[in-house]
Amino acid sequence: MRPTDVLPAPAPAPATAPTELFIGGAWRPAGDGARFTVHDPATGEPVASVASATETDGVHAVEAAAKALPDWAATPPRERAEILRRAFESMRAEQEELARLIVAENGKALPDARAEVAYAAEFLRWYAEEAVRLSGTLGHAPAGGNRILVMRRPIGVAVLVTPWNFPAAMATRKIGPALAAGCTVVLKPASETPLTALAVAGHLQRAGVPAGVVNVLPSRRTGPLVTALLAHPEVRKISFTGSTEVGKHLLRQAADRVLASSMELGGNAPFLVLADADLDEAVAGAMIAKMRNGGEACTAANRFYAHSSISGEFARRLADAMGRLRVGPGQEDGTDVGPLVNERARAEMQEVVDEAVAAGATVLTGGRTPDGPGWFYPPTVLADVPADSAVLRREIFGPIAPVVTFDTVDEALDLANRCEVGLAGYVYTRDLALGLRVSERLEVGMVGLNRGVVSDPAAPFGGVKESGLGREGGHEGLLEYTESKMIATQW
Ligand code: NAD
Repeated sequence: MRPTDVLPAPAPAPATAPTELFIGGAWRPAGDGARFTVHDPATGEPVASVASATETDGVHAVEAAAKALPDWAATPPRERAEILRRAFESMRAEQEELARLIVAENGKALPDARAEVAYAAEFLRWYAEEAVRLSGTLGHAPAGGNRILVMRRPIGVAVLVTPWNFPAAMATRKIGPALAAGCTVVLKPASETPLTALAVAGHLQRAGVPAGVVNVLPSRRTGPLVTALLAHPEVRKISFTGSTEVGKHLLRQAADRVLASSMELGGNAPFLVLADADLDEAVAGAMIAKMRNGGEACTAANRFYAHSSISGEFARRLADAMGRLRVGPGQEDGTDVGPLVNERARAEMQEVVDEAVAAGATVLTGGRTPDGPGWFYPPTVLADVPADSAVLRREIFGPIAPVVTFDTVDEALDLANRCEVGLAGYVYTRDLALGLRVSERLEVGMVGLNRGVVSDPAAPFGGVKESGLGREGGHEGLLEYTESKMIATQW
């Protein structure tokens, strides 16, 4: 871990990346000319100046999306699929440029950024394939007499709001299914990471997406802009990924217009290591579940529950693996973990550690904010964390792994489920039947059973409880952008 003794990485050059608003197929400045600065988390230095959309820009974007909707919805599914497929290929062809752009504004290590581009592009390929598989049903009314014909129709103009942690993948996970279903969209990316979303829009444009079908509005005036978008009478859907707090706020706004709502919100994933687990496998899985994307993932393992017979050994081995990770600027070869996204995120890491230590936890590795520029924090393992510690109730969103000891599987499940959110969970055991029983009882939307990654474009992604509503990915992700229409008829 040596963030302070490396030279600041050469400023990446997103000079060719678009920095204007994308409305109706044209790149434009904000209506009032306002701009905001994007910073490199590894140095705190400016990376680019980006147009900051006004509420009026928002209205123009919705109007463009509404104008494009009838033709796009009527475009043959095969043609929509071919365009999405070309966008997939275009993103893959420029994987390295996109990855470097992600690193420049988000900070993550280059291998994580490359993996994100591959994952993000895959949503476009998956939904290119799904676009031609949208079917309905035909049934008989139970009382006889008529038939019940059900078809899926595009829901209409969708507002998409995305976070900074996966700036490419959270955009394509929404744009892919929306376009496949025949919807048009207005995307508001996170203010920390607008460049990647604008670059993705460039790929879609070059792939042949018609003007107005995709609109992108970076902005520093987030609240008023999104309120204006949701209030517009042409908007029929909100799909949001971000914190539970903002998600609840948007759901209240969506209620005023009875908008269809998909919410991918915060997580607090439990990671259960049962007594019979293969510890090598469990530690390898824990490293992925915790450290993919530097710990800044909604699916990140947030609370480790290890059986009392192996918890000491598990925590030691995890600390050893965490301690060997190289922290540094994301662009540098050999960097495993980049900086956190901003100063506030880094300050929260120290708060978590201090809170846990005050509650009785022991720091096995890391735990101290380094000096120097950039928002670096070392991979940290906390052992002997009391099961009722406040740190276990918060989403850490960084490279800290608290380990708690349990004695029985029922106790582990009780601790894991004592939580208001339920996105992902992980279980390690050699007994597959036990693993499946525990997976069924975990109150989460997704389980990694002897596996540290759950995300897959082909699988329904989403949570229970306050982790959200609806699913993204898989066939279910496509249905979120449709509504069923029933025709009762007879012949
Ligand atoms: P955030 O909620 O602060 O921001 C998300 C988006 O909402 C950004 O575009 C932001 O500009 C916008 N926003 C913020 N305040 C708003 C307001 N008042 N009105 C309208 N829009 C507003 O979240 P974040 O810090 O960017 O991301 C981290 C959170 O996202 C974590 O809680 C994480 O778990 C969650 N997340 C969830 C998933 C999932 O699929 N469930 C995926 C990634 C991230």
